[in-house]
Amino acid sequence: MQQIILDDMSIFVVHKDIKNVHLSVYPSNGKVKISAPLRMDLDSIRVFAISKMSWIKKQQIKLQNQESETPSHYITMESHYYLGKRYMLKVIEHNTPPKVVIKHETIELYIRPDTNTVKKKKILDEWYRKRLKGIIPKVIAQYEESMKVNVVEFAIKKMKTKWGTCNLEAKRIWLNLELAKKPIECIEYVVVHEMTHLLERHHNEEFIAYLSKFFPKWEFYKEMLNKSPLRHEKWTP
Ligand SMILES: [Zn+2]
Repeated sequence: MQQIILDDMSIFVVHKDIKNVHLSVYPSNGKVKISAPLRMDLDSIRVFAISKMSWIKKQQIKLQNQESETPSHYITMESHYYLGKRYMLKVIEHNTPPKVVIKHETIELYIRPDTNTVKKKKILDEWYRKRLKGIIPKVIAQYEESMKVNVVEFAIKKMKTKWGTCNLEAKRIWLNLELAKKPIECIEYVVVHEMTHLLERHHNEEFIAYLSKFFPKWEFYKEMLNKSPLRHEKWTP
């Protein structure tokens, strides 16, 4: 089997006695395979793959989302997301206070023996919250300067239908804990969106103009967020 690398994606290539080129994205892991006719050379296959890139990425996002919609059991080998990246959960029993350790491809959840699912979720959620609390102030600070607004307070909450909210009078923004699982650009989009409410309360033309000025790719990241509902409702900031 041969392989071609595009962006940071590796695509497996198999030559077969077939008439047409086939492209498949595996549901189990999102890996991409191209089956090509025997006479088709790697350069032509590469050109073909490039032309299908947006479709491939769409399929991979779709697969990721299907996965995040299934309930978690907090067991070893389960996929969990942090900043848009998939990690494998490794549950390790030990007899000291619980902790979470993130490695290159795994999230290690250290728990006392006989910890139930609810408690495991709570431990991991607290870790997500702590991580998000470290990230958000930097994002706020970065945009406060260019937007010339002041966020007095922020908080991370569990919210069922919103990614974020803004209290204009208190200059306070609330952000959904689930954002910790999303790519950093999506987090930035939600923060900037809520900060834009400090300039304009309603989602009117002025609001859109501000948002486009301070975060030009907002539509792209909004779509990315809404394509991946964590529950089945549509989530909006
Ligand atoms: Zn809004």
